[in-house]
Amino acid sequence: MSVALVTGASRGIGAAIARRLAADGFDVAIGYASDADGAAATLAAVEALGRRGSVHAADVADEAQAAAMVEAAEEALGPLDAVVLNAGITRDGLAVRMGADDWQAVIDTNLSGAFYTARPALRGMLRRRGGSIVAVSSVVGLIGNAGQANYAAAKAGMIGMVRALAREAGGRGVRVNAVAPGYITTDMTSSLSDEQRAGLLERTPLGRLGEPDDVAAAVAFLCSPDAAFVTGSVLSVDGGLAMS
Ligand code: NAP
Repeated sequence: MSVALVTGASRGIGAAIARRLAADGFDVAIGYASDADGAAATLAAVEALGRRGSVHAADVADEAQAAAMVEAAEEALGPLDAVVLNAGITRDGLAVRMGADDWQAVIDTNLSGAFYTARPALRGMLRRRGGSIVAVSSVVGLIGNAGQANYAAAKAGMIGMVRALAREAGGRGVRVNAVAPGYITTDMTSSLSDEQRAGLLERTPLGRLGEPDDVAAAVAFLCSPDAAFVTGSVLSVDGGLAMS
């Protein structure tokens, strides 16, 4: 029996990852910030798939809360075999007008939050000599995006972190990878204008935006034994957008 922790699993991509991992046989600890109803809905979906689940409210930008979430998840379900660093926010704006608060909030949540969650989980994985950590980065961390200097920096930073951790942990059988989704239909992208949407579709060889389940499938692969020889990799799930 395997256990996974998914942060940001109350909605969107994280909720789809939690459901998919449950379908693949994981018991799933569901992290979230404030949407308790969303977290409860994900828990119900996990349980409907015949797996155990637990919910954990924690601000991942707060080191102590992130560590407590990892501890509570292991207490509830057992040692973690997989951790998905998915919690994230945007605070968009052109760099010349971006306040330090918007810069810092995105770095704190998306980058530091990933590290604060990965580190306590990694300690146990290293002791047990096995595990898989998957960071949800972004196409924006690979190719940049006007109006998202903070988000692009955080998402690129996650890739650097993943590669460093992969080098540190590989000798103990712990794998660390990232996915880099393109534009996925969730709350985060719901405010795209028709013009922005059309521009994206034009630059996307597969000619559609992604669905949360597209990302969940890639994460599930990286958490599975099928990815036993895969570490330090960044798997694009973007319909080909990063090539453009
Ligand atoms: P979303 O629908 O806005 O959901 C964000 C999730 O993160 C929610 O569960 C939220 O919890 C949680 N969260 C936010 N701040 C948090 C904090 N400080 N501590 C703990 N949890 C926090 O976003 P999404 O589109 O599913 O995105 C999920 C991840 O994929 C993010 O890292 C995002 O950057 C990345 N991504 C998204 C896209 C896309 O096109 N949507 C593309 C590439 C990468 P609450 O519900 O409790 O607020």
